[in-house]
Amino acid sequence: MQSNTIIIGAGITGLSSAYYLEKSGDKGLITILESSPNAGGKIATTYEDGFVVEHAPDSFITTKPYLLDLIRDLGLTREIIHPANSKFFILKNSELMSVPSGLTFMVPTDKDAFMQSPMFSEEGKLRALNEENIPAKILADDEDESFGEFVERRFGKEMLDNYAEPLFAGIYSTPSYELSMRAAFPQFLAMEQKYGSLTRAISEKQKESEENKKNEANKNLQRSPFVSLKGGMQTLTDALLKQLEKTTIITDCKVTSVEKLGDIYRISCGDKTYDASRVIITLPAHAAAEILCEISNDLVEELATFSSNSSRILTLAYRKEDCELPGATGYVIARGEDTMLSASTWSSKKWNHRAPETHHLVRCFFSKPEVMKLSKDELVMIAAEELSKLIPIAGNPVKSWLNSYPNLLPQYKVGHLQKLDRVRTLLEEFPGIQLLGAYYDGIGMPDCVKQAKGIA
Ligand SMILES: Cc1cc2nc3c(=O)[nH]c(=O)nc-3n(C[C@H](O)[C@H](O)[C@H](O)COP(=O)(O)OP(=O)(O)OC[C@H]3O[C@@H](n4cnc5c(N)ncnc54)[C@H](O)[C@@H]3O)c2cc1C
Repeated sequence: MQSNTIIIGAGITGLSSAYYLEKSGDKGLITILESSPNAGGKIATTYEDGFVVEHAPDSFITTKPYLLDLIRDLGLTREIIHPANSKFFILKNSELMSVPSGLTFMVPTDKDAFMQSPMFSEEGKLRALNEENIPAKILADDEDESFGEFVERRFGKEMLDNYAEPLFAGIYSTPSYELSMRAAFPQFLAMEQKYGSLTRAISEKQKESEENKKNEANKNLQRSPFVSLKGGMQTLTDALLKQLEKTTIITDCKVTSVEKLGDIYRISCGDKTYDASRVIITLPAHAAAEILCEISNDLVEELATFSSNSSRILTLAYRKEDCELPGATGYVIARGEDTMLSASTWSSKKWNHRAPETHHLVRCFFSKPEVMKLSKDELVMIAAEELSKLIPIAGNPVKSWLNSYPNLLPQYKVGHLQKLDRVRTLLEEFPGIQLLGAYYDGIGMPDCVKQAKGIA
């Protein structure tokens, strides 16, 4: 079969690549090869007895506008929902503690509330409040710094352990002292460079936002930057699939190799082959490395250095009469707490339309290596026991769903951008091959859509 563009992987990156290629007026054939029986990749939603259960992503950030733009293009604007609640807890000293009001990134903008918080010692609070007096560090162009070093340097160790690590490093599933500032949080480095301190940067931004607040048209800007879709995130991939008019999607087709034959590439899926002049690979780094052995050993070796972590999400349904959830979206866990869970999101408190009126829906995140082999029943027991120590729970969960992501959470370690540069240099020898995805140039769905739009 002859095809102009082959996209490998039908997750959001692959589907939106096809969508933007079609929109760009690309005249060639577009084929997506997907190993699993369904398109959508990590984006999937189960609808069962009135519950809307997200398998992996449950929301996206709107400050990076690419996914929001796509949602508008797809006519899904009316599906967008905002969080019903924005309060969340930190588990510290085995207690759920409210985050002091006004804590913006790591900057305590409401000093009185911050000074009263039991989350930090007196010394830890004074250290964080002194951030604006800490001189800015100028990084050389090729220098990186870990998130742990950055937060400790600017705000002190307590801010890192009790707040910044569980909240921010958790998103990247990377230990703080290994997480790259340049790749994961360039905006914090930019604030430090421009304003000398994050405290001053936030203060300036608040002044601008005060101006905006005066303008009625801007009142939506005051909302949480995270949104979701009423019917769950799969609404997005279903809508994308419907819009693809020229693209052929072949499922149950695991790509095993890509070879270069003169000006074209031959893609093998078992005993079937497909030829194309352009190949867009949207697989996780280790899976991309596996299929590129015939192309370049150097590329394979470089891709193998991108590490990833594993995660399991257990979603539990409780009858409301058995479980009294506080009015919050859930909790993350401070460093040093003795728990098997790494976070919990109370979906039915965070979003409307997630559970029947009579029930609560609770997501429990596991990332410790020792839980990766446990059975679903064992995980249900662990999660139910840990939750019952924190919130009034009288009965067992009435339903549960488990989704596992072995080595599927990319880690952005210090030096990530230099690795990307080396990969890009190696790819120059293979015009027509493009690598995209969450390990590459941004971890969330909006970043994936941005990359897809970029190549079209
Ligand atoms: C637990 C979890 C929670 C998350 N929460 C959020 C969130 O709330 N918000 C957010 O913005 N992001 C979130 N993310 C990140 C988000 O899910 C990803 O950025 C995004 O879904 C990645 O899409 P993708 O298309 O690049 O990869 P994938 O969705 O992984 O798609 C890759 C596809 O390639 C296929 N494939 C693999 N190997 C082969 C092969 N050899 N041949 C053919 N096909 C193959 C796979 O089956 C898959 O369908 C979360 C991720 C996880 C794991």
